[in-house]
Amino acid sequence: MEPVALSPVLLEPAPAVDAGAAVAIAAEHFGLTVRAEPLPAERDRNFLLRAEDGRRWVLKVSHSAEDPVVVAMEIAAMQHLELADPSLVVPRICPPDQVPARGADGREHLVRLITVVPGTPADQVPLPPRFAGEFGATSARVGRALRGFIHPAVARAIDWDLRDLPDRAPSLALIADAAIRARVESLLDRLGDLRAATRDLPAGVMHGDLTPANVLVDKTGTVTGVIDFGDLHHTARAADLAVSLCGLLRESADPWRAVRDFLDGYQRITPLEPAEVALLGELVLARATLGLLMGAGLAALHPGNQEYVTVYDAGNLRVLDQLSGPPLADRFHRICGTARLVSDGLERKDLRPRREAVMGTTLSPLFYRTPIQVTRAAGAHLYAADGRRYLDAYNNVPVVGHAHPAVVQAISRQSAILNINSRYLHPHAVELAERLLASMPPELDTCVFANSGSEANDLAWRMATLYTGHTGAAVADRAYHGVSAATAAMSTNTYPPAARPRHVAVFRPPLPLSDGRPADAAAAVAGVRDARAELHRHDHELALLAVDTVFSAGGILEPATDYLPALVAETWAAGGLFLADEVQAGFGRGGSHLWRFQDFGLAPDIVTLGKPMGNGHPVAALITRREIADRFAADDEYFSTFAGNPVSCAAALAVLDVIEDAGLVERSGHVGATLRAALTDLVPSAVAVRGPGLMVGVQLGPSAPAFAEALRDAGVLVGTTGYGNDTLKIRPPLIWGDDEVDEFLTAFAAALRRQG
Ligand code: PMP
Repeated sequence: MEPVALSPVLLEPAPAVDAGAAVAIAAEHFGLTVRAEPLPAERDRNFLLRAEDGRRWVLKVSHSAEDPVVVAMEIAAMQHLELADPSLVVPRICPPDQVPARGADGREHLVRLITVVPGTPADQVPLPPRFAGEFGATSARVGRALRGFIHPAVARAIDWDLRDLPDRAPSLALIADAAIRARVESLLDRLGDLRAATRDLPAGVMHGDLTPANVLVDKTGTVTGVIDFGDLHHTARAADLAVSLCGLLRESADPWRAVRDFLDGYQRITPLEPAEVALLGELVLARATLGLLMGAGLAALHPGNQEYVTVYDAGNLRVLDQLSGPPLADRFHRICGTARLVSDGLERKDLRPRREAVMGTTLSPLFYRTPIQVTRAAGAHLYAADGRRYLDAYNNVPVVGHAHPAVVQAISRQSAILNINSRYLHPHAVELAERLLASMPPELDTCVFANSGSEANDLAWRMATLYTGHTGAAVADRAYHGVSAATAAMSTNTYPPAARPRHVAVFRPPLPLSDGRPADAAAAVAGVRDARAELHRHDHELALLAVDTVFSAGGILEPATDYLPALVAETWAAGGLFLADEVQAGFGRGGSHLWRFQDFGLAPDIVTLGKPMGNGHPVAALITRREIADRFAADDEYFSTFAGNPVSCAAALAVLDVIEDAGLVERSGHVGATLRAALTDLVPSAVAVRGPGLMVGVQLGPSAPAFAEALRDAGVLVGTTGYGNDTLKIRPPLIWGDDEVDEFLTAFAAALRRQG
C-alpha cells in the first residue's frame, strides 16, 4: 500500500493477545485472578481486568513495534506526574513496571498493569457547560506538572505530531470523497510549514492527545482524571492545546463558547504568549486536517478497524466548518486578551484626526508640534511608531524605568490572584502603609490610599478645613496641586491671577532673591504673612498651606535650607496645617532622601504621594497624624473604590523594593550632580542650572519651548516649566547612569549648536 507514510507501529497489526491471554498474563506476572474485557485502542491491545472483590485494572499490551524506550518514557512520565501534582489523578503503574509477553502469533509485547482512574471518558457522556473550563484547567495542570519531566525518548517522532502535517500529505490520495480531498489539499497549502511557524514558541513535553476521550468525568461532569500517555512527546505548547481544542470543538454545540471557556480555564493557570495565541486557530485546523489524513491512512491499512480509526471524521469536518470565517488570529487574540498588545512600529496616520474627533483639541492637547506616537518603552527609552527611539528625560512617573519587569510582574501576577476594594483585609495595603510610615517622621502615623495626587491633595484640604475650622488655602504663585474642584483652585499656574478664588492666597515661590542668593527664612515669613493678610481681608483664615517640595511649576526652585522650616512655623503660627506635596518630588527624586521634605528636617502635618508611586500604575497616598485623620472621620468619611486595592499596592511595593534594592535615591543624587555639572559647562554662564537630584531645571529664557522641540529632534524628551515657560524641566527615571547622561548631553550639545 504505497501512498501511506506511517510509522511501523501503525502499520503492523495489533498484538495477537485476546481476553483469555490477558487473564493468563495477569495471573502469571501480577498474581491476579481476574476477568478481562477488551477496550478500544488504535494500536495497542488494552483490557479492563476485574477481580472478584470489585477491584479493577487496565492491562496494556504494547504493540510489538513499539520502542521499549518509549514505553519506559510513558511509565516514567506517569510516575513523574504522580509526584509533581498529586492532586492530578492519573493511572498508576503497578509493579513490576513492565513484563514481556508473547502473543498467539509469536510476537513479543511489553505488558503493563495500571490502575483504573474513576470516571467515564468525557466524549461518551453529555457534558455540563462548565466542562470546557475544567478541561482547560486540567490541560494547564498536566502541562505544568510535566514541565520538569525529561527522558531520552521525549524527542521521538510521532505520526500525530501536528508540526509534521506536510509529511502526512501522501494519505491525501486515500480520501475517497473528492470534495473533502480538495478541502484537505487546500488546507495543507494554507497551513504550510508548521515546524517553522512553531519554532520559537514555548515548547516542552506534552501529553499529546489530551482530548475529551482521555479526560474522565464523574456523573456530574466534573473532571476526575487524565489517561493515556501513549502520545507523549516534545512539541510546541500551542500544538498540544490545538489537540485539546479540536477535540472539544468536535463535542460542542456552542463551539466558540467552549473555546473561550477552555482558554479561560487554561490561562488562569498558565498565561499564553501572544505569538502562540496568534497561531492557535491555524493549529486547530491542522489537527482536524491531520485527523482526516490519519483516518484515511489507517482505514486503508486496517479495514477491520475502520470504525475506530474514522470515528472522528465527521467531527473533524465540523471543526473545519466552525473555524472557516473571519481571521482566526483576531478572534483568538480577543478571547485570550492579547488583542491589544501592539508593540511594533505600526504607525497609524489616522490616529490624530480620530483623537481630535472624539477627544477635542483644546481639552486634550498633545506634546510637540508633531506629536509622538509611542508604541512601547523600556527602562530609560521610549520607542515611537516611526521607528525612532527617544531618551526619556521628562517622565518622572516611571521612576524605576519604563515597564520595569519587577513592577510588571507584581501587577500582572496580583491581578491574576485578586483585585478588590480595601474594605477587606489584605496584607499588601497593610505592608505598604507600614513601609511608607516607617520612612517618615514618627508623628506621621496614619496612611490613607488614593488613586491620584489630586485625590490625595483634595483629601488633605478636607482634613485641614475640618481640623482647623478655617477655610483658606495658601499656595505658591505658580503652583500645581491637582484637578479636583478644590485642588484646581490651589493650582495657580492653571488660571489667570484674576480668576483666583478668594479663599486661595498666594505667596511668592522661592525664586532667587534680587542679589542672587536663594530665598531664605525671611522670604518665607514675608510670603506667609502676605498670604495670611490677604485671606483675612476676604474673611478666611489659613487652614492649609501646601507646597510642592521641588517647586516644579515655579521653575524647579531650590530655597535656602531655612526657607521651608520658616514656612512651616509661620503656617502653624496662623493655626493652619502644612502639606508637603511630594507627588512630584517623592520617591527619591531629590537624591538625598526618599522624600524631599526630609532634606529640610521638616515634620509636615500631611504628606501626599502619587505619580511615581506605582511606576505608572495609578496609586497615591496621604500620610498624616492620627488626630488629624480622626478629626476628619468624626464629621466626614472617605472611601474611594480603587484606592489601596491589592494590585495597586503590589505595584507600589515593587517600586519601593526596586528603589531600595538598586539604591536609586543615592543614584539620583550623584547622577543628578554629574548631569548638572556637565550642563553648567555647556550652557552660557547666564543660564541657571538648578534642582536637587534628578529634578533639573535649566532656565534658558524664552527660547526654552523651541529648545525642547530641538531636543526632541535630537532624540531626547524634556518639558518646560516656570514663569513664561522659560525653564527646561528634566526629570528622568532614576535608573539613569553614565550612558544616559552622555546620550542626553550629546543631544543637548547638538540642539545648542542648531539654535546657534
Ligand atoms: N501635586 C503635584 C506637585 C503634581 O506635580 C501633580 C501632578 N502633576 C499633582 C499634585 C496632581 O497629581 P495627579 O495628576 O496624579 O492628580
